[in-house]
Amino acid sequence: MVVVMQKGAAPEARERVLTEVRALGFTPHVSEGESRTLIGAIGPAPTEEIREQLRALPGVETVVRITKPYKLASREFRHDDSTVRIRDVVTGAGRFTVAAGPCGVESREQLLAAAEIAHRHGAQVLRGGAFKPRTSPYAFQGLGVEGLELLAEARRVTGMPIVTEVTAPELVETVATTADMLQIGARNSQNYALLAEAGRSGKPVLFKRGLSTSIAEFLQAAEYVLSQGNPNVVLCERGIRTFETSTRFTLDIAAVPVLKELTHLPVWVDPSHAAGRRPLVPALALAAAAAGADGIIVEVHAHPEEAKSDAAQQLDDAEFGALMASLRQVAAAVGKPL
Ligand code: PEP
Ligand code: MN
Repeated sequence: MVVVMQKGAAPEARERVLTEVRALGFTPHVSEGESRTLIGAIGPAPTEEIREQLRALPGVETVVRITKPYKLASREFRHDDSTVRIRDVVTGAGRFTVAAGPCGVESREQLLAAAEIAHRHGAQVLRGGAFKPRTSPYAFQGLGVEGLELLAEARRVTGMPIVTEVTAPELVETVATTADMLQIGARNSQNYALLAEAGRSGKPVLFKRGLSTSIAEFLQAAEYVLSQGNPNVVLCERGIRTFETSTRFTLDIAAVPVLKELTHLPVWVDPSHAAGRRPLVPALALAAAAAGADGIIVEVHAHPEEAKSDAAQQLDDAEFGALMASLRQVAAAVGKPL
């Protein structure tokens, strides 16, 4: 349930509610809305008596039940869009965010070249996997800790904050020492131990939808991060598995407006892993902006044909430059300028 405080309710009233909520066996989560404070009380289904008891406290306007299985992620908990800060970049605040960079960190030269391209064309965040979750155990697995060090160097050079993937709970601490944002990939979409650990890290999380995860399952999984007291989650649609084989995955573009309806969390799209092929990436990226996404994460490589992973889908310098020019127009047209 959510306890909605009155406008301008005194801090003591709020403390009293927090105390009562805890005493009743619920965990409180405070959300500062534009004009009033909301206190989510997560726990067993509350009885009408409990809701009445909380409603009677000073400073409380009303108490509403959250009917959805996901609570903190739902629009019922928080009506206003939330924003997520990735160092000095704020996403979800009405401007379109672009995260760009290579699929994987392969070498110093490769990463710095891709970072320079991303930065020069106006991407705000640098992506690059140091720990790669590969379908085959024989494929390039990433440079690991060495990759993180290279990402830190690329951040020093460009000033861009870094989003990089964490693939296992025991790696969260290590990755979080360098990353400005932790990426949880599609293959880990139901790795609840990893999600909870990322929640405890306090770092913002870019959470990708699983290959065959429904939107309701996706939001409940995001709840594992939120329920650890980490509200900084960005959801990312990256394509789902369907019968269609002409693209790597089917980009569920409708997921963008559906998520916008159901949740206050920012929504990004990954056009690269959905498309799987370079020529299709720009159209999917523009569709994301047109559909109301708050940002994209896109793969860029100075020499895509030499990439150790996802060579077919990474954009080169000219292709990324052209995409950014079109994206500026579409994003501005839908009221979310870059
Ligand atoms: C990635 O972005 O590097 C990645 C592996 O994506 P996904 O988890 O969406 O497959
Ligand atoms: Mn990739």
